Amino acid sequence: MARLESNFKPDLMAYLRRHHGDMCRHWFDDIEPLDIEGGVVRMLVNEPVQLRYLQRCCVQQFTEAAQQVSGRLLALRFVGPEEEFTAAPEPSVSGGDDLPELGEQMLLSPDYSFENFVVGPGNRLAHAAATAVAEQPGRAYNPFFIHGGVGLGKTHLLQAVTQSILSRNRRAEICYISCGTFTDAFHESVKAGRMNAFRHRFRNVDMLVIDDIHFLAKREQSQEEFFHTFNALYQAGRQVVLSSDAAPQDIPDLEERLTSRFNCGLVARIDKPCYETRVSILKTKARLLDATLPDDVPAYIAARIDSNIRELEGALTKVRGVAHAMGVPITLDLAKAALAADPTANRSAGQPNIQLIVDAVTAFYDVKLTDLLSKRRHKSIALPRQVCMWLARRHTRFSLEEIGGYFGGRDHTTVMHAIRTIDARRKTDDRFSDEVERIELDLTETGA
Ligand code: ADP
Ligand code: MG
Repeated sequence: MARLESNFKPDLMAYLRRHHGDMCRHWFDDIEPLDIEGGVVRMLVNEPVQLRYLQRCCVQQFTEAAQQVSGRLLALRFVGPEEEFTAAPEPSVSGGDDLPELGEQMLLSPDYSFENFVVGPGNRLAHAAATAVAEQPGRAYNPFFIHGGVGLGKTHLLQAVTQSILSRNRRAEICYISCGTFTDAFHESVKAGRMNAFRHRFRNVDMLVIDDIHFLAKREQSQEEFFHTFNALYQAGRQVVLSSDAAPQDIPDLEERLTSRFNCGLVARIDKPCYETRVSILKTKARLLDATLPDDVPAYIAARIDSNIRELEGALTKVRGVAHAMGVPITLDLAKAALAADPTANRSAGQPNIQLIVDAVTAFYDVKLTDLLSKRRHKSIALPRQVCMWLARRHTRFSLEEIGGYFGGRDHTTVMHAIRTIDARRKTDDRFSDEVERIELDLTETGA
C-alpha cells in the first residue's frame, strides 16, 4: 500500500476550489487522504453524515481532481474509520433483508446542522424546540411540528435534529423521508401485498421525520395509514417530527383526527427573517463556502432580498459566480452589478424598496451604506439616515421596528423621532424640502 505525496491534499483542494468552488465546504479540510492501492485513492471521513454526503454527491469531482493533480488515471473512494474498501453502513437506515425497497431516505446535508443555523426573532421558538427534541427525543415535545413559508429553514431544522441525534448515537434508528416517499412506499406496499413489512419498517424506528407533510392532503388512504403509524410511534414514546407549509388546521383536506394529533405536541411557526438575521445568514453561508465578503456586501444583499433565504443564497451564489468568472474579489460594486438584473430583488408593484431608498440617499449625500447601517451618530450620517427612515416609512410597508432594526439596530422611537425631525425641517427649510423631494422623485421614477 503506497502513501500519498504530502502535497497531494493541498493540490487536490486547490483544484477543487478552482474548478468546483460551489461544492467546496470548509469541513473538507477534515478529509484525510489515507493511501493508494491498485490505482484507488482512499480518503478518510470520520463523520458518517459527511461520509454519506461525499459518497453520493462528490465522488466524481474528487476523482477528477485526483487525476488532474497526480496526472494518473486514479479512482477515489471515501471511507469511514471502521472500514476497508466497503462503504460505511448507513447509520440511519433501519430494517433487514426481508423488507421491500421502500424508496430512498433523504440524504442529509452536512450544511444543515444546528451550528450553521442562525437564530433570529422569526425562528427562535422553532430552533429552541428543535434543540430540545434533539436532546430528549420522545420526551421534550412530541410530535414536533414546524411550519412556515418556502425557503425559511424547515428542512434545515429537521436535518439538524436528525444529525444532532445521530452524532450522539450512531445507532439511533431514524427514518427521515419526504412525504412523497412515504405515500409512494405505502402504495407500492399495498400493490405488492407487503403491508406487514411496511408497518414493520415505519413503526419500529426511534424517530420518524417527515418533511412537507402537507402533501398528505387529499390522499385519504395514506392519511389513514399515517394516522396508525403515528399512533403506534407515539404510544411507544418514539419521537415524530414533521414540517409543513401551513399550520395543522390550515392544511386543506387533512382529516380532523390528524390535525388534532399534530396539535397535541408543539407547533412552531417560522417567520421571515429580519434584516439582521439575513445578514448573519449570509455571513454564515459565506464562511461555510470559504468565501470572503467585505461587510457591505451581506448588508447590500440582505437589504435587497427579503423574500426568503433560498433566494438570499441564490444571490450570494450569483455574486460569487460573477467574481469567480471575472477572477476578481467580491466587492460591493461587483455585487451591485451582479444582481442588477436580478428579478428576485423586491421591486414589488412599482414601489420603491428599501434598497432603492438607500441607493438614492447614499448617492445624494455621498455617504457609505455601512455608515448608514452602523451605530455612528455623526451629523453627516445622522441626517441621511433620518431621511432614509422617513422615506422608508412613506414608501415601504415596513414597520417602525423593522426600519429601526435595519438602520443600525435602533428601536421604533428613534424612527418616530427621525420622521418628526424630517417633517419639521421640511416645513421650515425650503432648500432641504427641495432636496428630499428630489430624492423622492428619483425614487419613484426608478422604482416604477
Ligand atoms: P424550507 O424547507 O423551509 O423550504 P430550507 O430549510 O430548505 O427551507 O432552507 C432554505 C435554505 O436557507 C437552506 O439552504 C438553509 O440552509 C437556509 N436557511 C434557512 N434558515 C436558515 C437559518 N436560520 N440559518 C442559516 N441558514 C438558513
Ligand atoms: Mg423544505
